[in-house]
Amino acid sequence: MKREIIENEEARLNALRNLRLLDTPLSESFDRITRMASRLLGAPVSTISLTDRDRQWFKSRFGVDLAEIPRAEAPCNYAIHSDEVFVVSDLLEDARFKESVLARAGIRFYAGAPLITRSGYGLGTLCVIDDKPRRMSEDEQHVLVDLAAMVMTQIELQNTIGRIDPTSGLPNEHQLFEDLEDLAKRSPGERKVGLMVELVSPRQISLGMRVLGATYAEELIRNSTEIIRLAIGDRSRIYHVGLTRCVVVLDDPADRSWDAIAHDLQRRLHDSTPCAGIPVSSDPVVGAYAFQTDKVCPRDVLRRLFNAADDARTSGRVIASYNETHDRAHTRSFRLLSDMREALERRGEFSLVYQPVMDFASGRYAGAEALLRWKHPSLGEVLPAEFIPPVEETAFTRPLTEWVLNAAISQVAEWQRFRDVGKISINASARNLEETDFADRVAGILEKYAVPPRSIQLEFTENSVLGDNPRVLEQLRALKRLGVSIAIDDFGTGYSALSYLQQFPANVLKIDRAFIKALPTSEHDQKLVRALIHMAHDLGYRVVAEGIEGRAAYDLLAQWKCDEAQGFYIAGPMSVERVEKWLAPTMVES
Ligand code: C2E
Ligand code: MG
Ligand code: MG
Repeated sequence: MKREIIENEEARLNALRNLRLLDTPLSESFDRITRMASRLLGAPVSTISLTDRDRQWFKSRFGVDLAEIPRAEAPCNYAIHSDEVFVVSDLLEDARFKESVLARAGIRFYAGAPLITRSGYGLGTLCVIDDKPRRMSEDEQHVLVDLAAMVMTQIELQNTIGRIDPTSGLPNEHQLFEDLEDLAKRSPGERKVGLMVELVSPRQISLGMRVLGATYAEELIRNSTEIIRLAIGDRSRIYHVGLTRCVVVLDDPADRSWDAIAHDLQRRLHDSTPCAGIPVSSDPVVGAYAFQTDKVCPRDVLRRLFNAADDARTSGRVIASYNETHDRAHTRSFRLLSDMREALERRGEFSLVYQPVMDFASGRYAGAEALLRWKHPSLGEVLPAEFIPPVEETAFTRPLTEWVLNAAISQVAEWQRFRDVGKISINASARNLEETDFADRVAGILEKYAVPPRSIQLEFTENSVLGDNPRVLEQLRALKRLGVSIAIDDFGTGYSALSYLQQFPANVLKIDRAFIKALPTSEHDQKLVRALIHMAHDLGYRVVAEGIEGRAAYDLLAQWKCDEAQGFYIAGPMSVERVEKWLAPTMVES
């Protein structure tokens, strides 16, 4: 059967490069074949010659020392365009080659069998060369073709390694990339839809692995892919692209019936799957992304599928389509994280603003909260609500908090030379409390700037102090021993009972602004906040209300004996110079 050869030079070069064969060392598995070709065909020289953009590079060579020759004029260059053996009985008799480098070097005879991939790209040839002119019988040509097929098997074999997931035996993401690239070339413009199935949530994986060991994920994927195969038939390969994630690529029909397929998959997988004899319930979600084969690069297809599956998981839906807005946000987060290191090193990108905090009883300024600002060189002002959450997932948490602590504490030192500035509150991250030297480092910075620990307060959000991580408690206790005040920030947004928080050595509760916002109108919030203040006082906390935006809320909170007030009603966050005017009334007389 004749194979069709794709005549697209860029695509061909791409296929060749993807095999990662060019400029690799010689290898016995290929040399064995050239040796055999020379012996069987009685030719002094044989090579496996790969046709790169402007050279023939020899993956294997028998009887010759050259590593490569120029592509122009090389007979191999002709051989890759046909499915048949290309024979030149005498180079000197052939106008195309009589002036060629090979002919000038004394070569007279050439026969090359093309090396063609399954997708139809001519990679190069297995060729035999002689310094005498000769003919090649049909039998000899068959031998060369068979040996060329062996070369291709060897190439494919090498290439399969790294493309098959060893646990599931399924093609992995590298294979998916290659198949998508092929699709783009073979059927440009065709519409496809990728479905990513995430079998269980990351939390379930860690639980399952803890109980059942590695078998958990392995059996889950094995059993589930069987179910997927039954559902989609042979419409797509199933790619295994993560511990418990797989991808299928289907045609995207005009009626979007893939949506029904996605629901069907989700339903079938939702029933429990046996795993090590135990029925394990899986909690699958499906992310879908419809695309045009030649418009999106394969890596973006996979990334968008991840985003869609993630969206499905976090939004509590079972199926979600790729959402460009979410993707832009992810991409922006990624960009911010990539730029973070330089921003930390350069001066002037990060700065702190200060929001005054007022004492209800005296109506006077009690201190301020330091809030981080980032002036990104090209994105402009970026607020912490956008960049802090992704940072907290990375190792930047440590240097960023270090920067904030240094900036805030050195500022306090500067202010304290002239005036009493009250307590300056600094936000730190949950992850910082897992650092075993966190309290020591805070102590070190305070000492460096000769600032007494009682001048500062560290804020941690409610969620961050939760859990029974002994390291977290140890750091909190060490901070308290040091004499630093500790506040539980955004209180009320987590799920902890106040009594439970008692084990945490905190002095201050900051009621989240979500409860303050509707205070004047919501009777429910009024009851809640009033009870909260009473209980917190009983337990010995000072209470700060954040996000006070108007007189009504301020008055209610004052009436309920809330201790401190923070919010736009009093003052928003401001620069060092502006906040200094607030500090002025308490200026230390010198
Ligand atoms: P947070 O610690 O609860 O800080 C209070 C946030 O509420 C600030 O937002 C502040 O500008 C805003 N705010 C103050 N008064 C009002 C008001 O009356 N109404 C409304 N709607 N908002 C008000 P910001 O500066 O954007 O910071 C957001 C969050 O980012 C902070 O919440 C904190 O969790 C985090 N953050 C800020 N700076 C840092 C930092 O240096 N390190 C860390 N780890 N997190 C920080
Ligand atoms: Mg705060
Ligand atoms: Mg807060």
